[in-house]
Amino acid sequence: MHPSISSKLPHVGTTIFTVMSQLAVQYQAVNLGQGFPDFPMSDELRELVYKAMLDNQNQYTHMAGLPLLREKLANKAKQLYQATINPETEITVTPGGTYAIYTALTTILQPGDEVIVFEPAYDSYIPNIEVNGAKAITISLQYPNYSIPWDEVKQKINPRTKLIMINSPHNPTGAVLSTEDMQALSEIVANTNIFIVSDEVYEHLIFDELAHESILRYPDLWQRSFVCFSFGKTYHCTGWKLGYCIAPEVLMKEFRKIHQFNSFTCDTPKQVALANYLDNTEAYIGLGKFIQQKRDYFRTLMQGTPFTCIPSHGSYFECYSYAGFSQEADKDLAIRLTKEYGIATIPVSAFYQSGEDNKVLRFCFAKKEETLEKAVKGLSAL
Ligand code: PMP
Ligand code: GLN
Repeated sequence: MHPSISSKLPHVGTTIFTVMSQLAVQYQAVNLGQGFPDFPMSDELRELVYKAMLDNQNQYTHMAGLPLLREKLANKAKQLYQATINPETEITVTPGGTYAIYTALTTILQPGDEVIVFEPAYDSYIPNIEVNGAKAITISLQYPNYSIPWDEVKQKINPRTKLIMINSPHNPTGAVLSTEDMQALSEIVANTNIFIVSDEVYEHLIFDELAHESILRYPDLWQRSFVCFSFGKTYHCTGWKLGYCIAPEVLMKEFRKIHQFNSFTCDTPKQVALANYLDNTEAYIGLGKFIQQKRDYFRTLMQGTPFTCIPSHGSYFECYSYAGFSQEADKDLAIRLTKEYGIATIPVSAFYQSGEDNKVLRFCFAKKEETLEKAVKGLSAL
């Protein structure tokens, strides 16, 4: 007999990524659902991990992350975003971007606080907010270009608003914030005590010659921000689960209090490898073009199907509307496509607390060409 448990997240089920990936395995469908590449990561980076292990770099490193890695990351922030970051006090390496976001939210939130979240939203944000006793105030991005309705943001801000979550390039839609958006955000938070958590895990996966508008470019915004990144996305190794957070010293000091009693530190050999590999700037600068080719190839293939493209400008994903040929619920269609047409996707309603269903599915195009061809071939029978 178990003692009875009072759930901290009574409304939460299993994440849609796990649900759809399991269904893909069960029905042997091509998995364009969960976001992970099916092409190999860099041989050089793999070799560097092996070398670090052979060199006996296998014990705990610094609680905040390998010092050399943090130094390289601070240099990168300077080069890319003209930001001056102190690697000793303002960067912490974490076991993944999701962990960085969770830790940032846990650092700041108190019961009763409100957090502005734009939907569709990456599925960990709202449970991370609620487990801290805070409340997500959701605002729908404007369909179909998924832009932020800044007037509505202004209306929803009140003395309980503790934090605004942003994510660019955006999962699931591939929308990208512009300089005007950053300007609007700056005006809204000026002279308030509002914090920002900025999810920038797709910073390099940006297309169409757009520049990534990192919070790190905006000193006024950065003063109130936790900026979260993921090595998994940048180096095609989502299974490594390594990321990092950049925040001003006073905020980072509190972040580390949570981190040190959670994972305390992260995988040492991989940090050694990444510190060395960061000298290869082409590996991340060229990434947008490489992934854009995949988006473009996928888009061309999808033209032979009845789906309507909602253009993505960044991330691993592109969304497609099926309103032109079906009115069924997106979850039902996603399940049917997996079972009957051999392709797994993600129904975008899963990223809305209300279950808002605009008849849109998310496809992950970070795959080999043959995988994309096989997936879309199934859809031609629709
Ligand atoms: N945020 C977004 C928007 C993501 O898509 C992901 C990808 N999984 C993450 C955070 C987390 O990355 P990680 O796997 O490093 O935890
Ligand atoms: N970020 C990935 C996605 O959006 C999946 C991460 C996960 O499975 N939790 O598909």
